[in-house]
Amino acid sequence: MADYVIGDLKPADLPVPEDGLSAAQMFNGGEGLTYNDFIILPGYIDFTAEEVELVSPLTRQITLKAPLVSSPMDTVTESDMAIAMALSGGIGIIHHNCTPEYQAAEVHKVKKYKHGFIRDPVVLSPNHTVRDVINVKAEHGFSGVPITENGKIGGKLVGIVTSRDIDFLEDSPSQGNLKLSTIMTQTENLVTAKSRVTLQEANSILEKSKKGKLPIVNDKGELVSLMARTDLKKNRSYPSASKDENKQLLVGAAIGTRMADRERLKLLASAGVDVVVLDSSQGNSIYQIEMIKFIKSEFPELQVIAGNVVTTMQAKNLIEAGADGLRVGMGSGSICITQEVMAVGRPQATAVYKVAEYARRFGIPIIADGGIQSIGHIIKALSLGASTVMMGSLLAGTSEAPGEYFFSDGVRLKKYRGMGSLEAMDRKDAKGSAMDRYFHNEMDKMKVAQGVSGSIVDKGSVLKFLPYLQCGIKHGCQDIGAKSVSSLRALTYSGELRFERRSPSAQQEGNVHSLFSYEKRLY
Ligand code: IMP
Repeated sequence: MADYVIGDLKPADLPVPEDGLSAAQMFNGGEGLTYNDFIILPGYIDFTAEEVELVSPLTRQITLKAPLVSSPMDTVTESDMAIAMALSGGIGIIHHNCTPEYQAAEVHKVKKYKHGFIRDPVVLSPNHTVRDVINVKAEHGFSGVPITENGKIGGKLVGIVTSRDIDFLEDSPSQGNLKLSTIMTQTENLVTAKSRVTLQEANSILEKSKKGKLPIVNDKGELVSLMARTDLKKNRSYPSASKDENKQLLVGAAIGTRMADRERLKLLASAGVDVVVLDSSQGNSIYQIEMIKFIKSEFPELQVIAGNVVTTMQAKNLIEAGADGLRVGMGSGSICITQEVMAVGRPQATAVYKVAEYARRFGIPIIADGGIQSIGHIIKALSLGASTVMMGSLLAGTSEAPGEYFFSDGVRLKKYRGMGSLEAMDRKDAKGSAMDRYFHNEMDKMKVAQGVSGSIVDKGSVLKFLPYLQCGIKHGCQDIGAKSVSSLRALTYSGELRFERRSPSAQQEGNVHSLFSYEKRLY
């Protein structure tokens, strides 16, 4: 008999020997771990990846259909990003490295967004001329321009000028001065729709009317938005969009903890913000505790995410003060040099596990913030107890991130910078990030950078990138044997989810190796 045959028992006859470590065992060694330091052992699959539920709480009262949050950084989240994040089931947090009025206006744009409807179209008045339309065409590449009495959105709609109205006038310089009132199609001959119209109804009106543009007006006949035939095909619906009870998209905004931020908060609240993030690299401070108490007494309906924290003691103070969610991470961000400069922080995987494991006892969800480089990192963060992940670098470089593209060595790039970089702290219109997030004030003669400024490769639209992330998370959960993000957390805390530390060579093995070259396209 061969010596490897040790018996004729069946698997059912024996208990399965323990394999790997529980999360508690893995993090009890005292050594800080990062996402790359461990791997999750696979489980049992009895469902398809599509069936996996990504619903997860952001705060005590806000639940998202996708556990994805965009970071309040001035190269990541303004209204375009926040709209795309909310349409895709996540949420965007508008940065505060700008005036309170600017930030509130960005929040307002998200709350008033109606998918498929252009809310800030180019508008002219009857006194504008053919030349003005030609200029619009040159600048924006289209020529269907609604005409209102005052030449602004919100003015009474009196007509529309399309390329057909100016086709024969364009070549004749003498006609350039013709007033639009003489050539426009008057309102009575226009097809319009009322502001209550749904996306589907507006789409079908546009389709039937065979017109290029559909002006949307309120009961007083004032222009509220515009629909374009060219957008028709793009108007797919977003069934998982994050919405409030009025069906408006959810949006967050970051603020600091100074007296001036109380005024900022008032503007944000009247713009309809759903959640505020107290933005500090070290959130365990008297300033933050007082701010949480102030918000809870003045704006009790507003959800407050406090942080950042990386230890249970920090978390305790903020939870006690009334935080509805915690942001976890110090020094793990891609642009971050806090750990090097301040000698303070914590490796991110350990921070997430320790804080989440503590905060869950009080029903407080946590956001794993910073250091997310891949779908694998998102799955690891969720498997350590995070309810959502916050991303900067992963979303920077998309078309919805603020900033213009530029080329370097033939590569299309966008700027991405830390909010504690000298460049961000020196932003002229800023009264936010530097002074609050990093405890600098106007008296400081010298600022100490805690972040760097760099660039990131063009990633295309985040509306395509987010479905890729979500699909990847679902496949990861399937491999683990978790049919939802909440059951993933349940497996972690029951000890059924098993982990293993990875040696440096195991990490190498887990990545592409032994090839001369390979294609890096991911989706
Ligand atoms: P990333 O996703 O790895 O790029 O990290 C983004 C996170 O880094 C943000 O959400 C912030 O928590 C953090 N962060 C932003 N700016 C700075 C900085 O200048 N220094 C340190 N951390 C920063």
